[in-house]
Amino acid sequence: MKIISINAGSSSLKFSLFNMDDESVIASGLFERIGLEGSCYTIKFHDEKIKEEVPLENHGDAVKILLEKLISLEIIKSLDEINGVGHRLVHGKDKYKESVVITDEVVNDLLEFKAFAPLHNPANVLGINAFREALPNVLMVGVFDTAFHQTMDEVSYLYPVPYSWYQDHGVRKYGFHGTSHRYISEMIQKEVGKKDLKVISCHVGNGGSITAIKDGKCIDTSMGFTPLAGIMMGTRSGDVDPSIITYVMEQEGLNASEVLDELNKKSGLLGLSLKSSDMRDIVAGMEEGDEKCKLAFDKYTRCVTNYIAQYYVLLNGADVIVFTAGLGENSIPFRKRVCENLSSLGIKIDDEKNNVMGEIKKISSDDSSVMVYVIPTDEELMIARDTLSFLKGA
Ligand code: ADP
Repeated sequence: MKIISINAGSSSLKFSLFNMDDESVIASGLFERIGLEGSCYTIKFHDEKIKEEVPLENHGDAVKILLEKLISLEIIKSLDEINGVGHRLVHGKDKYKESVVITDEVVNDLLEFKAFAPLHNPANVLGINAFREALPNVLMVGVFDTAFHQTMDEVSYLYPVPYSWYQDHGVRKYGFHGTSHRYISEMIQKEVGKKDLKVISCHVGNGGSITAIKDGKCIDTSMGFTPLAGIMMGTRSGDVDPSIITYVMEQEGLNASEVLDELNKKSGLLGLSLKSSDMRDIVAGMEEGDEKCKLAFDKYTRCVTNYIAQYYVLLNGADVIVFTAGLGENSIPFRKRVCENLSSLGIKIDDEKNNVMGEIKKISSDDSSVMVYVIPTDEELMIARDTLSFLKGA
């Protein structure tokens, strides 16, 4: 069985083609700058990588070229080999609690929920429509970023604001990165050999969220109504006092969306360090004695620590903490500091085991009160697995 996982953005389309017999990636790639000058695609397959500039007026062009290339590069012999297409979808509000077969209703809902994910939901629809046209008879499945978090109870998902904001306008915590947190939850269950686990899943990349999981179900998560909430991130502030927004509007003569833009794009590691949103640069700066980089590192690791500690209490103790995504998988000093910050809970990291990047590994000492793991996330595979389960009629 071969399945394509698709992640369509407003001007990009990422794909991975899986052989689901062994879950191997046959080919993967990216179509960039769709609808813009200098559009191009990159396709990786059999240790080869090709990159070419081509005009891409819309997502339909990208899908057409993708399918042509899969055949002309002999990655597949015919389009009939593609059994299913899984789409990463961002916002399903509280309607979509799990993955679904894509129907007209799903497409209409994505557009109806546009105000909740203005950049992503319309882009997801462009991706769906392009594949519907190119492969009209192939099963398509939608996998929502928000779905895994739908098991939160109202104590977790409601904000202490006028109830009518929730009732009339859907103001509540939705959570994001759900596909990654679900993948981590399933992987750690396999790794430990137990389903009834209390897990704190730390997806820490350029964007980041922490999720408390009990027996495979989300109990609470750090992102909120939008992905701006929760921990400090590469360029996002995470949680701040909302009164700052009106104060800075007055001081700087900005409007609300301009201030929100600064909270999304100029804050976090970048905002505090005045240098970079990339943890590698922050650690390098810190090692050279840059005080602002040290401050950014201290604040970042403190924010992550605080959420882990909060969820440790919420879960009434934890069995496992898992680090994943760009920083979680690769930043040795980041994991070390967070675990050291948690030492009062009896959490102990083994420096030798922590010397790992991008592979599944237990990094806690044998006498740690909580197991700590690094597990590389794989949202594309999770999307392909969900698509496969519909194909099998599960
Ligand atoms: P996104 O949220 O965009 O998917 P990623 O999960 O790819 O982001 O994470 C990207 C971030 O991960 C980078 O900005 C950087 O801070 C961090 N990162 C990636 N590789 C390393 C590394 N080798 N060491 C430290 N940090 C890393």
